[in-house]
Amino acid sequence: MFRGILEGMRQTLRSFFEKPVTIQYPEQKRPVRARFKGRHVLKRYENGLEKCIGCALCAAACPADAIFVEAAENTDERRFSPGERYASTYEINMLRCIYCGFCEDACPTEAIVLGDNYELSFMDRAASIYTKDMLLEPVPAVDKLTPQSTPPGVFTRSVPEMKDPED
Ligand code: SF4
Ligand code: SF4
Repeated sequence: MFRGILEGMRQTLRSFFEKPVTIQYPEQKRPVRARFKGRHVLKRYENGLEKCIGCALCAAACPADAIFVEAAENTDERRFSPGERYASTYEINMLRCIYCGFCEDACPTEAIVLGDNYELSFMDRAASIYTKDMLLEPVPAVDKLTPQSTPPGVFTRSVPEMKDPED
């Protein structure tokens, strides 16, 4: 028994001098891995236009049926995104989401991206529905809000020309 006590004290002393593995969250945060999939962000182009064109491919690809998209028509006087349509409603039910990233893979414009934010908490079910306003990234400058008035015939293409992905 005495031997057991000594062993216990030895382990306690050893841990006392070891570098702590805990951190003082939330003041301190560990960086996430490069492939971490956290809270979604709806991206914009540098000119402030929204990348989302309301095609709902992300909703179709979602295995948890967590995404709801409704589209409306763009006009040159009131343009949210390039092309004909934009997402007038975009919602993700974070209680359903399993963070698989299928929505990200399905998106033709790279509009929806799973970011590095893992701080999701809700006090009720309604608060778990993240709306477009919550998901959309901030505008790059104050004069680049959406909707924008754009010159006719410029933003006709919904999906930008992209290079083939590199290995
Ligand atoms: S990460 Fe997966 S489960 Fe979550 S919204 Fe996207 S497709 Fe659906
Ligand atoms: S996020 Fe992408 S896939 Fe989903 S509606 Fe918008 S453009 Fe389409």
